[in-house]
Amino acid sequence: PPRLEADAVSYRYPDGTTALHSVSLQVHAGEIVAVLGRSGAGKSTLMRCLAGLEIPTDGRVLRDGEDRSALRGRARRRAHARVGVVFQEFQLVERATVLSNALIGRLAYQPVLPSLLHFVRRSDREIAVESVRRLGLGEQLRKRADALSGGQRQRVAIARALAQQPDMLLADEPVANLDPVLARGVVDDIVRLARVEQLTAVLNLHDVDLARHVADRLIGLRAGRLVFDRPVCDVSSSD
Ligand code: ADP
Ligand code: ADP
Repeated sequence: PPRLEADAVSYRYPDGTTALHSVSLQVHAGEIVAVLGRSGAGKSTLMRCLAGLEIPTDGRVLRDGEDRSALRGRARRRAHARVGVVFQEFQLVERATVLSNALIGRLAYQPVLPSLLHFVRRSDREIAVESVRRLGLGEQLRKRADALSGGQRQRVAIARALAQQPDMLLADEPVANLDPVLARGVVDDIVRLARVEQLTAVLNLHDVDLARHVADRLIGLRAGRLVFDRPVCDVSSSD
């Protein structure tokens, strides 16, 4: 089965707004897919459904062929840990260090949060340190998150996701708050790491040129409907 599949996913908000109309897509292991569309097209809603953060009103999301939405407790935490999510707002703990922020990726899915970081298992700490280093922030481990630049801060958020040792990385407009040069660097980092780790990645991106540069496949949403789904090599530059 595909690593990730949306099967006729519809999503209606409580106020009646239908953000997704029967969206179906498949993402295979190791693929890097960019989702394009104007603001309001439904990209964030789709990502939240793919991540298991929202349950579709209709249709199903399958990971490795299984619907995991009914899982509870430990099985649910374990399933969530396999999916790393990066948001537009980095959602860091501002007053905590870079290392502590990355450790959250290790600890968030454990049954009991250690009350002091001193009690963190050595293996968890090593994995968190390694994921920070992979984002080029080895020198910043002990700095507070709020002392970093925008690009560095988003890299901490990516390190936190990688520390989960996910098999899938979902990023919702990860660089919308960064200037274009920084944005390119951060997206390049995400894609480079995804390729090295053989992660499946779905990125909501605003910038079509950037999407075409990094993704294997482009998916377009318009007003909650899937309007195209094609390999990057088929996309002409006049699009
Ligand atoms: P916003 O309203 O969020 O500013 P834009 O109109 O600037 O959105 O579009 C964002 C990007 O997404 C643009 O680069 C545009 O080319 C692309 N885009 C918008 N709608 C579609 C679509 N239906 N299919 C493909 N790409 C789209
Ligand atoms: P995008 O990420 O492409 O900008 P969204 O998924 O955020 O699109 O939004 C899709 C549609 O759902 C939009 O019409 C938006 O206004 C609506 N929407 C988003 N969040 C909510 C919400 N919490 N309640 C009601 N409508 C919402």
